[in-house]
Amino acid sequence: MYSMNTILIDQATGRPAPQLIDPFGREITYLRVSVTDRCDFRCVYCMAEDMTFLPKKEILTLEELDRLCSAFVARGVRKLRLTGGEPLVRRNIMGLVESLSRHLASGALEELTLTTNGSQLARFAEDLFRHGVRRVNVSLDTRDADKFRAITRWGDLAKVLDGIAAAQGAGLAVKLNMVALKDVNEHEIADMLEWCHGQGIDLTLIETMPLGDIDGDRTDQYLPLSLVRARLAERYTLEDIAYKTGGPARYMHVRETGGRLGLITPLTHNFCESCNRVRLTCTGTLYMCLGQDDAADLRAPLRACESDEGLQRAIDEAISRKPRGHDFIIDRRHKKPAVARHMSVTGG
Ligand code: SAM
Repeated sequence: MYSMNTILIDQATGRPAPQLIDPFGREITYLRVSVTDRCDFRCVYCMAEDMTFLPKKEILTLEELDRLCSAFVARGVRKLRLTGGEPLVRRNIMGLVESLSRHLASGALEELTLTTNGSQLARFAEDLFRHGVRRVNVSLDTRDADKFRAITRWGDLAKVLDGIAAAQGAGLAVKLNMVALKDVNEHEIADMLEWCHGQGIDLTLIETMPLGDIDGDRTDQYLPLSLVRARLAERYTLEDIAYKTGGPARYMHVRETGGRLGLITPLTHNFCESCNRVRLTCTGTLYMCLGQDDAADLRAPLRACESDEGLQRAIDEAISRKPRGHDFIIDRRHKKPAVARHMSVTGG
């Protein structure tokens, strides 16, 4: 029924294959792909220190990841984000970025981007730009070197700051993601805002989400962004703006700094009604919601046949099961994560 071109043609009708529309009428135009579950950091809210990673044979090859991404692009996905784990520690990741860039060149894809901890950015920034990447999200929770080491366990702040500078030097727009952590970095938020905006960097704050068992107690770390916003509003003029990057952040313009501040608030303000995305793991499992366990295996249909017919059917079937939304809560009584898998599995 389907033939694989950049635009997929439904051979029964001769028309472009249908877009991916879920049961709630939401069009799926954004695919986030975790290209590896491995990371060179061990952020305390994200992973336990002694994580067991997937055996290599479970992981899709870069060619398989390309085929899967391309199958989504053929169905109307306009934005691809590579994430992880740490996407830049996957061997030959630039090969994947380069091959996916053909969808930018054809106009099928609007944006190819990635989320990174920045540790390898100095090495890869120029290649990323050369292959059509124009924006990257860098995760950075503090600019205090000791605290950075304590949060990431293994990270080196200087390398990340070099990576950010290299990215900007290569022409990439940088957005910084900072997870707001009670008692840890909550008093650095204004300082981070000033620094980012001084460098021409947008800042997005994220609430910790109850994903996966970690060594500590997550209720100790949770800081509602409604509180952060109220505190910032005592010092800055925050004006809500309609700016969107295709993700879940709601943006404000900060009058005094002239920059943008985004808030991602899965707990205090649920953003599911406008959800346009699904998440693919490096084993080919598709999660239709970050905060639910239901998933579809795309690896079996991918490997079963060289044609994409079965794969496209599996994608359609998965999208037909996309739930209305997640129901994260910080469970203070049972201290269990809402979802057992770590962010590094589904891709943040
Ligand atoms: N290694 C890359 C990085 O550091 O950006 C990509 C993967 S990482 C899992 C993506 C983002 O998820 C990071 O900004 C990280 O801080 C965030 N993250 C991880 N676990 C989280 C959690 N439980 N709640 C909120 N954000 C989380």
